[in-house]
Amino acid sequence: MKMTLLYIILAALMTACGNTNATSTTEATNDSTATTSTTAGKVQFDGNAALNLAQQQCAFGPRVPGTPAHAKCAEWLTTTLKASCDTVMVQTGTVQTAKSGPMGIKNIIGIINPDASQRLLLLAHWDTRPWADNDPDAANHNKPVMGANDGASGVAVLLQLAHQLKQAGTTLGIDIVLVDVEDMGENDNEDSWGLGTQFWAEHPHKSGYKPVFGILLDMVGSSDATFTREYYSTQYAGGFVDLVWNCAAGNHFINAQGGAVTDDHIFVNRAGIPCVDIIDLRSDSDTGFCPEWHTIHDTMDAINPATLTEVGQTLLNVIAELEK
Ligand SMILES: [Zn+2]
Repeated sequence: MKMTLLYIILAALMTACGNTNATSTTEATNDSTATTSTTAGKVQFDGNAALNLAQQQCAFGPRVPGTPAHAKCAEWLTTTLKASCDTVMVQTGTVQTAKSGPMGIKNIIGIINPDASQRLLLLAHWDTRPWADNDPDAANHNKPVMGANDGASGVAVLLQLAHQLKQAGTTLGIDIVLVDVEDMGENDNEDSWGLGTQFWAEHPHKSGYKPVFGILLDMVGSSDATFTREYYSTQYAGGFVDLVWNCAAGNHFINAQGGAVTDDHIFVNRAGIPCVDIIDLRSDSDTGFCPEWHTIHDTMDAINPATLTEVGQTLLNVIAELEK
């Protein structure tokens, strides 16, 4: 993903999930009188287990499209989702990359409660960038990014979430879409990013697919993460941004307007599905992201279980809210 030069500060007060003291309006269901009687709301997200799932992805090496590590990780992701989801689909196709020509993709889709009419879409990209072109050392610019944070962290949270929902149960329909070839884009070419998501948006896994909304996770593992409200999410899906931030667990979520990012959620929103990006945005860096972004230092050392716990717990809180 890449940052665009839009930055707006609109401070707002943080409120608890379901709390009526929210300072901004919420379009989605947010009934403060209902008790958290559903199972998902009682589950404690296991960030250590999620960290282990990120480690397992990194053990394949950088998951660069077209490489053996990418192919092996696709098999592992499919097997892992099959253990937790009712149905798993692998969507294959070919996309046109900006620098590397045509590229085969695998979008790996895990479906929970396929017959439930009320559905939540959850996305993360599982590929990693072939070039560490933001590395301070130019000698590393053609080396691949390990993507512990940029790739593995979001996928790990979703895999662990599916695992815990399998045990706890949920009445909500959930579609976990692990998208491919997000990170082969180039600057000043918005449509060169999110190629797997663009393919999925043109060929949804179910005809007439219409979830309540979607949540994208991207770079959700840093100990210094700041999850501010991403600009395009607010523009396209502001009520759902309110819902997610009202459900946020932990102090990495900051209910203030953050920067604008070209990421997978843009293409989901353009397809008519409101989609919120939970992404680590930094107001104190030149890139707008964490220092490890698109460098050879985006390794397991760059992520930690406490942040993964906050993000996973936030998703469980959102699911509990939708179950009410
Ligand atoms: Zn990236």
